[in-house]
Amino acid sequence: MSDLPEIVADLRERVRYYASLTELGLPPREPATGTPAREEGVAAAASDAAAVLKAVREDVGDCERCKLARGRRNIVFGQGNPDARLMFVGEAPGADEDAQGLAFVGRAGQLLTDIIEKGLKIPRKDVFIANVLMCRPPENRNPEPDEIIACQPFLEQKIDAIRPRVLVGLGKFGAQWLMKSAEPISRLRGRVGDYKGIKVVPTYHPAFLLRTPSAKKEVWEDMKVVLSLLKE
Ligand code: URA
Repeated sequence: MSDLPEIVADLRERVRYYASLTELGLPPREPATGTPAREEGVAAAASDAAAVLKAVREDVGDCERCKLARGRRNIVFGQGNPDARLMFVGEAPGADEDAQGLAFVGRAGQLLTDIIEKGLKIPRKDVFIANVLMCRPPENRNPEPDEIIACQPFLEQKIDAIRPRVLVGLGKFGAQWLMKSAEPISRLRGRVGDYKGIKVVPTYHPAFLLRTPSAKKEVWEDMKVVLSLLKE
């Protein structure tokens, strides 16, 4: 019973998050195309994480489910170890990622690599890195609700396939998506959330760290939490 205020606060945040995504009147959990039956088919057809991810990538196809398809060069599905114990979720591809079709390969990506390899002492190839959006928004503007909703089932399927021990939400969009909360990143970080039974650690986005190096100490605090959760 003593958990009740916390549960109510959590539900209230979830409602706020979904309300922020449904300004356009779109349902939050349904893909723009495709059906739930198809999702089940994907899961049933593949026996391991790599095969499921391959099937999900095939389902994404040459995606035109949202307006970002018109301006992108490459779909950035995300990459890494399908059996990763640690998965990062960023915001959306930037120019370098769009050009190469790979997540976090620009300047922010280099910093993320340092956080993973120098900070956590884990080879980057051993983690999985994805984004809330698979296509680059024009001029690197913020993701819009209809775009987040169109990409949502695929990120859900990736996480369901990988089932990491720990998820790290990078910046406002990655952290809010995983925490299902509309709270600002400054309030989300410092707490451990839950995504379908997987521990979630929200932290600042590496691009923010490039502009605000003084925030690196908070990120290091968050990475220490990641390390201790990975040991559990
Ligand atoms: N920023 C992101 O959020 N994702 C990338 O892949 C690159 C930069």
